[in-house]
Amino acid sequence: MLLGAIADDLTGATDLALTLSRGGMRTVQVVGTPKSPMDLASVDAVVVALKSRTIPAAEAIALSSEAAAWLKANGTRQFLFKYCSTFDSTASGNIGPVGDALLEQLEAKLTIACPAFPTNKRTIYQGHLFVGDQLLSDSPMKDHPLTPMRDANLMRVLGAQTRHKVGLLPFAIVNAGVAAIRASYEQAIAEGLRYLVVDAITDQHLRDIGEASADFTLITGGSGIALGLPENFRRAGLLPHDVATATLQAPAGLPVILAGSCSAMTREQVAQAQEAGIASFRIDPLAVAEKKITAATIVDWVTAHASTAKPALVYSSADPAEVLAIQEKLGRQAAGDMVEHLLGETAKELAARGFSRFVVAGGETSGAVVAALGVEALRIGPEIDPGVPWTTSLQGRPLALALKSGNFGAPDFFLKAWKVLA
Ligand code: ADP
Repeated sequence: MLLGAIADDLTGATDLALTLSRGGMRTVQVVGTPKSPMDLASVDAVVVALKSRTIPAAEAIALSSEAAAWLKANGTRQFLFKYCSTFDSTASGNIGPVGDALLEQLEAKLTIACPAFPTNKRTIYQGHLFVGDQLLSDSPMKDHPLTPMRDANLMRVLGAQTRHKVGLLPFAIVNAGVAAIRASYEQAIAEGLRYLVVDAITDQHLRDIGEASADFTLITGGSGIALGLPENFRRAGLLPHDVATATLQAPAGLPVILAGSCSAMTREQVAQAQEAGIASFRIDPLAVAEKKITAATIVDWVTAHASTAKPALVYSSADPAEVLAIQEKLGRQAAGDMVEHLLGETAKELAARGFSRFVVAGGETSGAVVAALGVEALRIGPEIDPGVPWTTSLQGRPLALALKSGNFGAPDFFLKAWKVLA
């Protein structure tokens, strides 16, 4: 195995697995660190999907270290710690604490922090993260239910989470190319830095950063940072030159959309689906807390409204003011956990009733759904929109799953996803 990745949420893991698969690496995504031995003989990259973004830092460290140890035991040459392209984290972590633990465990001198994903309009300039034309702190991420991002300066955000020194690899150097980037790494090591926040505005920057980082034991970043990594292995003669495109055998069965993300894009996708005539069921978390809405209520509704030709939509997505009002009544984490659990139970029951094609919106939500469905490993299939492929479960009853990070996908995602399966 060439590359072993640890992703702090499920949709991020899928996004990364897609990038690696498109780069010609035979990639498998596992949900959590596998407990039983896996045959990895024909696998170039494994992405371990954790659900460690918003749990206590000590637990995130324990899960990530366990994954790193498993990857190491399976011969991983290079490690990638993957987090969100909007650097989703809180003041207490978990990017810094997990990064620190991995630096130590893998005995890495220096690593980079580069969440840039230009295809999805996440760019970094002078260490500041932009979402489109807005600073991260002005973007809708400022109102995220679990990880509100109120500072766009990544040196400051990461600096508050790590005990190590954080430096910047600025645009001028990145833009000068591979040799200049490498020289800066040497200098950073000499200065005792352990992290470099790396500017990146284009995919070419990411490819150059990837090439310059060929000898790093540990890289940290968004899925974009993986753009340049397969080529390093190809250059070293460890990967074949032809890149096969991913195909997918979708199981027959009923389709459903489960949206637990409150991100601006998901809310737009919900609105477009409704306008296009897709039947929808809105989950009011307060009604769930009062047990007026249960998984059984939703399952009955979905079963009555979905057909093989047309999915039904279940959503808890709400605008920031509504989310705040609910969090004030129920608590932030408690509200999130409750909705995630409900959508997980709903998915499980729907699968039992013959639903086999799931579009799920929300990183945490997808984690909960996949856990409830008992899916342990996924094969990456064709891409629907940047960063979002269809996947199929690798064991048990075959399910097709499109797991979408909240802000990903075009506004018509809930409509067009099905066409890729046809
Ligand atoms: P994203 O990918 O957009 O970050 P996530 O699923 O990761 O989406 O996170 C959204 C969180 O918000 C989940 O924990 C979810 O359960 C929670 N949530 C969903 N709907 C509501 C709501 N109406 N009020 C409060 N929290 C909600």
